[in-house]
Amino acid sequence: MITNQELVDRDRRVVWHPCSQMKDHEWLPMIPIRRGEGVWLEDFDGGRYLDAVSSWWVNIFGHANPRIANEIRRQLGELEHVILAGFTHEPVVRLSEMLVAATPPGLTRCFFADNGSSAVEVALKMSFHYWLNQGRTRKTRFITLSNSYHGETLGALAVGDVALYKDTYGPLLLQPITVQSPDCFLREAGSDWREHSTRVFEEMEKCLDEHADETCAVIVEPLVQCAGGMRMYHPEYLRLLRAACDRFGVHLIADEIAVGFGRTGTMFACEQAGISPDFMCLSKGLTGGFLPLSVVLTRDHVYDAFYDDYATLKAFLHSHSYTGNPLGCAAAIATMEIFGDGNVLERNRVLAECMAGAVEELVDHPHVGEIRQHGMILAIEMVKRRAGMEEFPWQERRGLTVYRHGLNNGVLLRPLGNVVYFMPPYVIEEDEIMTMARVAREGISLATAG
Ligand SMILES: *Cc1c(COP(=O)(O)O)cnc(C)c1O
Repeated sequence: MITNQELVDRDRRVVWHPCSQMKDHEWLPMIPIRRGEGVWLEDFDGGRYLDAVSSWWVNIFGHANPRIANEIRRQLGELEHVILAGFTHEPVVRLSEMLVAATPPGLTRCFFADNGSSAVEVALKMSFHYWLNQGRTRKTRFITLSNSYHGETLGALAVGDVALYKDTYGPLLLQPITVQSPDCFLREAGSDWREHSTRVFEEMEKCLDEHADETCAVIVEPLVQCAGGMRMYHPEYLRLLRAACDRFGVHLIADEIAVGFGRTGTMFACEQAGISPDFMCLSKGLTGGFLPLSVVLTRDHVYDAFYDDYATLKAFLHSHSYTGNPLGCAAAIATMEIFGDGNVLERNRVLAECMAGAVEELVDHPHVGEIRQHGMILAIEMVKRRAGMEEFPWQERRGLTVYRHGLNNGVLLRPLGNVVYFMPPYVIEEDEIMTMARVAREGISLATAG
């Protein structure tokens, strides 16, 4: 039998972990996971952790979900992979049909990639190339929101705005036009989300008016800027943005990589604004958290702008080796079927209320600046002082204290800076929500004391 310590020792000799300062692991234990079931992860010494962050927001129906696992197993016996240029297979056709049916109206074409960042790259390139094919050669830029996040590859990183990930690579990046995020955390006292998001939209309107000629697309994370600290805004902003993009002849890219598949209460966040984007990027929950896969959905007129005789050289010559992998598609089909069969969104509404109730007592905590929620995403912002929402200095790493308290008490919470959040798999039970919330409350009190 392998023990935690043995695996961690071997790991430290050969593995370089993502998004980590490896030196931290001189004192911060690495957690080796042997198996998962539902919301639980289990280590080699029998320790259990409730996965409150859905393993980086990908898992929606629980670890080792038998239905998804069986679909992958069945597909494994048929076809593991085939080139998708010039060839096709049933899972990719079936999944595309399901996605076209499930997403907002007008999104009729599916272009596959294998991770979220690559889907963002596809959307950026496709938008630029669409305008090029129309002879609009001056359109070379993108508009993005402050504090947004769209992935780590250079194009995706460039259109994001989280300094911690981006600034180091500044010299390598495209220069987008950045406008103020409609994020409601720092709204003026007395105003509500709708008023605030609507007022902030004026800056976007001005920016479009000034830059539409040189702009391919506006890219946004609908309703929640997840990596930017689960900052949230009102759907009215998306409605205004859709109308303005139409007026100014600029594409709208909705990056629903994190918020898609029911996270914000509706199947897709755009539905709450009643809008259809020109491009929708999906990944994370797409395969239920089983396999890497991503897709960009777009509209007929975009597809048609590339559809011509070969010699016109208008084709979209982008690919990834594992584009539309059949195993990933099988996992995604099973995931869509679970949504199709059950009352998933209805049950989530009950769970979302339960999460809100479970942290209610923190509302008056002297170091909690705000508790905010969009459906199955609930975030608690720790502040040094509530007056003026004064932040704890990042060097103090208060969130890390919550993380460590969580691990010591069987809950995987992974705060983003000073923001503690819940984004659990939808199979969580009410008593598990209570456990998750209790450990988070204790962790917050511990982390903000002194
Ligand atoms: C995670 C994420 C991405 C990047 O996806 P990867 O699969 O990690 O490359 C892009 N956009 C948003 C909104 C995300 O949350």
